[in-house]
Amino acid sequence: MTQDELFKVLVAHCKEYGFIFPSSEIYDGLSAVYDYGQMGVELKNNIKSYWWQAMTRLNENIVGIDSCVFMHPKTWVASGHVAAFNDPLIDNKDSKKRYRADVLIEDYLGKIEEKMNKEVEKGRKRFGEAFDEAKFRETNPNILREKAKYDEVHNRYVAAEEANDLKEYKQIILDCGIVDPISGTANWTDVRQFNLMFSTQISNTGADDDKIYLRPETAQGIFINYLNVQKTGRMKIPFGIAQIGKAFRNEIVARQFVFRMREFEQMEMEFFCKPGTEMEWFRKWKENRMKWHRTLGMGDDNYRFHDHEKLAHYANAATDIEFRFPFGFKELEGIHSRTDFDLGNHQKLSGRKIQYFDPETNESYVPYCVETSIGVDRMVLAVLSHSYKVEEVGNGESRVVLAIPAPIAPIKVAVLPLVRKDGLPELAQKVVDEVKFDFTYQYDEKDAIGRRYRRQDAIGTPFCVTVDYDSLKDNTVTIRERDSMTQERVPISELRSIIDKKVNMSNLLRQL
Ligand code: ATP
Repeated sequence: MTQDELFKVLVAHCKEYGFIFPSSEIYDGLSAVYDYGQMGVELKNNIKSYWWQAMTRLNENIVGIDSCVFMHPKTWVASGHVAAFNDPLIDNKDSKKRYRADVLIEDYLGKIEEKMNKEVEKGRKRFGEAFDEAKFRETNPNILREKAKYDEVHNRYVAAEEANDLKEYKQIILDCGIVDPISGTANWTDVRQFNLMFSTQISNTGADDDKIYLRPETAQGIFINYLNVQKTGRMKIPFGIAQIGKAFRNEIVARQFVFRMREFEQMEMEFFCKPGTEMEWFRKWKENRMKWHRTLGMGDDNYRFHDHEKLAHYANAATDIEFRFPFGFKELEGIHSRTDFDLGNHQKLSGRKIQYFDPETNESYVPYCVETSIGVDRMVLAVLSHSYKVEEVGNGESRVVLAIPAPIAPIKVAVLPLVRKDGLPELAQKVVDEVKFDFTYQYDEKDAIGRRYRRQDAIGTPFCVTVDYDSLKDNTVTIRERDSMTQERVPISELRSIIDKKVNMSNLLRQL
């Protein structure tokens, strides 16, 4: 199966098993908006809980808040979103499809990179052990040709981005012969800027100053509450404020399932520190966040840092944590050193003094800030795409299993009476009573036991407990583990501790 096909199968699986539904499906759906079903919401809540606890419980100096989607419109002037939260868009006149001009160029560059990598792989095969990749890249004529092409386009692209030169974007697209994948033509409109914020009205007079935005990031809710939290919590620098909540962006090209949605959820933490110490904190948070990801056990090789060469005007360092999605390495989380840009601008625009008085040095300053920002939905997609596996199980049969890290699996245990008679359902209910206060569970008595196991595999349940005739005699049950499919006979009284060892979130937190 190609990665493309695998992705389609995954999307279908998410719908079939109640993880993620296209929104408003009965009205033929709403583009780039998705709803979470009965399994999806559990997975999402577990991811949020893992993040929230890692932030607010493991760090004495980080507290949480929950601010509103609506904020005073000046918030978005101060943050720069009104003036500059734009994407360059371009339409193809034949297909009538809309694209981000920068993404078209980046994809073109990505293809050149791919070509070079393929050339390297060919070389590696040809030369075996003696292969020297760096030298090969410096001398191979095919690579040198591609590299020259790459550099030329890349330099033009970076210059156009810096100068905000929309004409040059279009010229690059034309010069590179980039065509619309649907119509196959280069019949492009001019490139225009498009602001990504959604707006609505706060009262019903219809006047212009009623205009209010749906927040495009949760971070500003933290900045405008900085003084409240610092004072009421008697917080001493360095300290952080964490928040999980919805954000809204009118994305131009919203494909790739929950990777890019118009309504999504973010987990953001703003860490306030003394000016001059921000690089040290930036490094610490880079390390800390990578560890959070890797502790889930989804393969260290599937993550990488991508440091930004070109920084936003307010940032003095920025990196992305990228994950290997089915469509390649893409941003999962951003870590930015934002200086005093946000607090400083809110101070200017609000006229309030937003400063920290340091009792040790007797000085006041606007704190600097390091931000960690991750999309919950991208994290859900990372987990699901990594977990989805089709496995041979012998006799020409296969199973679909979601090998979701056990502490974040939606359902932790399934309780299955072997048959629906002779007192087995009653005993199974007792097992349910034993586990239900600690774990999410499903009770299932329909169909043959093998089919019930398959259903649980498909939603990623780490344990199945089967109650059979022997259980009636000796109060033992069979516990089956999802990944190894091994089965073990254990007393009902030990179930809780066996399951807990594997699924308890604190096992993850202890490793951080
Ligand atoms: P991209 O370049 O992919 O558009 P971004 O750099 O605009 O992302 P940030 O503004 O840094 O993203 O937002 C922080 C995080 O929020 C991202 O790392 C991502 O996980 C998540 N995120 C941003 N936009 C979306 C979206 N439209 N849908 C889902 N998640 C998103």
